[in-house]
Amino acid sequence: MKKHVYDAHVHLFPNSLLKAIYYWFERAGWKIWYRDQWTPQLVSHMDSIGIKKALVLGYAHKPGMSLELNQWLHELQKSYHHLFPLGCIHQEDENIEEIVSKCLDEWNFAGMKIHALVQKTSCDDERLFPLYELVQKRERGVVIHAGTDPEETPHVGFDHFCRLMKNFPELKVQVAHLGLAETDQFLQLAEEYPHVYFDTAAIFMDKMHLPMERLRDIIMKYQDRILFGTDIPFIEEPALRQMTMLDQLHLPTEVYQKIYQDNMKKVWEIS
Ligand SMILES: [Zn+2]
Repeated sequence: MKKHVYDAHVHLFPNSLLKAIYYWFERAGWKIWYRDQWTPQLVSHMDSIGIKKALVLGYAHKPGMSLELNQWLHELQKSYHHLFPLGCIHQEDENIEEIVSKCLDEWNFAGMKIHALVQKTSCDDERLFPLYELVQKRERGVVIHAGTDPEETPHVGFDHFCRLMKNFPELKVQVAHLGLAETDQFLQLAEEYPHVYFDTAAIFMDKMHLPMERLRDIIMKYQDRILFGTDIPFIEEPALRQMTMLDQLHLPTEVYQKIYQDNMKKVWEIS
């Protein structure tokens, strides 16, 4: 039976940017399964494997590009009503508050995305605090790649995230990739902060360090905090494999319902 899945972690970009990102991954030694597939193909592929709605996460690897990229995401949503953009910002952008306000207030984006690894800054960089303030005040959310997988740099890691949450305890955050490879610390911290959630994007890749025997326990214990995500298209395997592997955990039906749909509806207020 074809699935009916909500995907909380997808990346779509204009062709020129996507091409550059595919090339970057290739040089870094990644074998991206979706290489040379562009936005329309990726969207129809998502549809073909049962992804009914998705959060589309932008990110800006240099200053001065976020407004244009956010505009592109806004246009994308006009063509595809089942895609929900999260805007991007770069820590060196001059007009952070203006851009964030455009995304949240004018274009009604569900939230914003921070990619510590790509942006080469930590999530607790104080230049990003105006973004968190605006997001928190509007009760929207932010997706953050904060963990040390698939690459450890000075910008990622639990300590940065801990400091962020101390400053913004009410912030709604979706920690990408289950916070790997420091999942235990992230999960424990989430018990102190009611609005911290996690996505499962890319966790089955060989580059990630997740002992499979732990995953079932994690999902059972934090079933109200975990959202399914694929990380399409930046993965080395077809996204369908992630669903197959999750299905092999033989979780109770109501738990699958939560991670495949209900948690995303609740967290991101998507019906
Ligand atoms: Zn991602």
